[in-house]
Amino acid sequence: MSFDSRELKMDANVTQILVCPICKGPLLWDKTKKEFFCRSDLKAFPVIDGIPDMVPEEARDLTEEELEEKEK
Ligand SMILES: [Zn+2]
Repeated sequence: MSFDSRELKMDANVTQILVCPICKGPLLWDKTKKEFFCRSDLKAFPVIDGIPDMVPEEARDLTEEELEEKEK
């Protein structure tokens, strides 16, 4: 249980800081896939070795279906 709450706290801190490098909007955190994503741009940013990769060229394209899946 203690691991879970630590992880949640870290997630909250990280998501407050990060904005989308493309549209400067807030990034959302996908706990399942462990990646950040932007709803406006339909892009997902991977986290590599605990560090978010915010390079727009390396972002993964998201489909509408994937976005719906993330927001469930
Ligand atoms: Zn964006």
